[in-house]
Amino acid sequence: MLLVFALVLTASAQAAEIVRIGILAPEGESAASMNWRALTEYLDRVLPGHDFRLEFQTLDSLRQAVAGRRLDFVITNSGNYVELEAAYGLHRIATLDNARFASPDLAIASAVVVRADRNDLRHLADLRGKRVLAVDEHAFGGYQLAWHELDRQGIDPHRDLAPLTFTGFPLQGIVSGVGLGRADAGIVRACVLEDMARRGEARLTDFRVLDAPVGDSYPCLRSTPLYPDWPFSALRDTSRSLSKEVAAALLAMPAGGDGLSWTVPTDYQPVYMLFRDLRTGPYAYLQKGSFSEFLARYKGWFLFAAALLAGWLVHTIRVEQRVLVRTRDLRLALEASARMEHEARIQQEKLDHLARLGILGELSSMVAHELNQPLSAIGNFARGMERRIESGRLEPEPLLDASREVAEQADRAREIMQRIRAFARKRESRREPVELGTVIDSAVRMFQDIGERAPSVERHVATGALVLADRLQIEQVLLNLLKNGMDAMRDSPPSERRLSVDCRSESGAYRVCVTDRGSGLGAEGQARLFEPFFTTKPDGMGLGLSLCKSIVEAHGGHVWAEPGETGQGLAVCFTLPAMKTES
Ligand code: ADP
Repeated sequence: MLLVFALVLTASAQAAEIVRIGILAPEGESAASMNWRALTEYLDRVLPGHDFRLEFQTLDSLRQAVAGRRLDFVITNSGNYVELEAAYGLHRIATLDNARFASPDLAIASAVVVRADRNDLRHLADLRGKRVLAVDEHAFGGYQLAWHELDRQGIDPHRDLAPLTFTGFPLQGIVSGVGLGRADAGIVRACVLEDMARRGEARLTDFRVLDAPVGDSYPCLRSTPLYPDWPFSALRDTSRSLSKEVAAALLAMPAGGDGLSWTVPTDYQPVYMLFRDLRTGPYAYLQKGSFSEFLARYKGWFLFAAALLAGWLVHTIRVEQRVLVRTRDLRLALEASARMEHEARIQQEKLDHLARLGILGELSSMVAHELNQPLSAIGNFARGMERRIESGRLEPEPLLDASREVAEQADRAREIMQRIRAFARKRESRREPVELGTVIDSAVRMFQDIGERAPSVERHVATGALVLADRLQIEQVLLNLLKNGMDAMRDSPPSERRLSVDCRSESGAYRVCVTDRGSGLGAEGQARLFEPFFTTKPDGMGLGLSLCKSIVEAHGGHVWAEPGETGQGLAVCFTLPAMKTES
């Protein structure tokens, strides 16, 4: 008893290995189970350790079952197999071998069926603009093979048929639909028509299959080339030993009454090629890659982007033009400003010249007086010599001394004249390294040369005070300040008329002050001192100090006035930047 019990237990444990075979059955389980019963019975018989269970699936549920690894094997049409192979690594272990066909490689085709009385429909190309029925977009023999053929003839079924309608299973409905004139043509798997005729569901003479080859060895009418029959495939996870056992069993399976058996797996490459042409199945991604389709799909966005680009271009061009116009305006403005500056400089130079002449004019009485001195000395010496000669006192020494004096005085007069001429000459401004001590010396000398009444001038001048300047202009400034100082002391007793010129270094510049002991200046005078045409003198022009200011400022310095150190008189001062020397 125990032994029997143990045997039963072992047997049931062995029988527990369930093997699930997913079968594509879009027409429903009842229609399909008949076809595959012989297969399960055979497998159960030859492989007793396994319990083979068939699971009938639609395209969608089959894909989900494969993705969820709920199956061990799959029997599906060649197109669906290729898709699942590409997506989930299914691999074929056998191919259906139907005794009806010469080779399992050349088993499946589509037939495009029209009514026999439609004389206008003889070729696939005649279908353009016609109403066409098909069973399902994913039916391999029932649609995709015909689609490929239409595509090769330049007909896009979705675009060029009017319209293409998918009716769903069963396939027979398509043939009867065409027979009833509900559509111009119907796409079915080849042999469906012949099977219907055999079952008495249709008459072959009522229908025509478009572009069917003449003298074909294939047993049914067809409109497309032939493709391999259904494969039997294993999933990636199915054990090798199980696959091997099942494959061996399949290959050994004898053909039953339906003429079906299994043979070594055939080549499904033509199916891949077909899908690649149609850009579907594993090649669906190619649809996205087509530039024209991409263009068509995103046409709106392209237009929008193009409009943006155009707007941006227009904006850029306008901005560019504005920049050009502004640049031209700016250039013209700069040119105008340069022209005005040039004219202003010319005017300034003219004014400068006039002012110098003005100073000379004011000083001219002193000039005359000054020239008078050497001239009268010359006259005196000449008359003295005359008297000596008349009285016969011809000793050479005194005569020689007198004529030397004459010559000296004449030289002095010429020097005075030359200096005045040099000062009054019209000239352009010229910068050079200038030692302030020498300019001050020369201005003071000229000032004293010109006026006998000129007061004494004290000098406190730093040595080596180098500036980059126009020597004559600085001389002019100094001369002007000295003359103003002298004028300010006009009413002072001669003993108190004293001027001083002071030059000292002060943080990167030299500060020069001309101080007098004159009348000084009230607050209003100080405020207006450097204004052009401000003068308190009856014969004054009021230009001297304003010119001094512009000359000093043109040299990078500034000018001001302050009360003299003792509180008496006025000090008019200016600065000039010290010249940078490389040391
Ligand atoms: P002008 O000597 O022809 O009047 P300036 O521009 O040289 O022209 O001087 C303007 C005025 O400034 C003078 O009229 C005078 O009133 C005043 N001024 C200039 N220097 C002194 C000074 N050292 N002391 C007092 N007043 C002065």
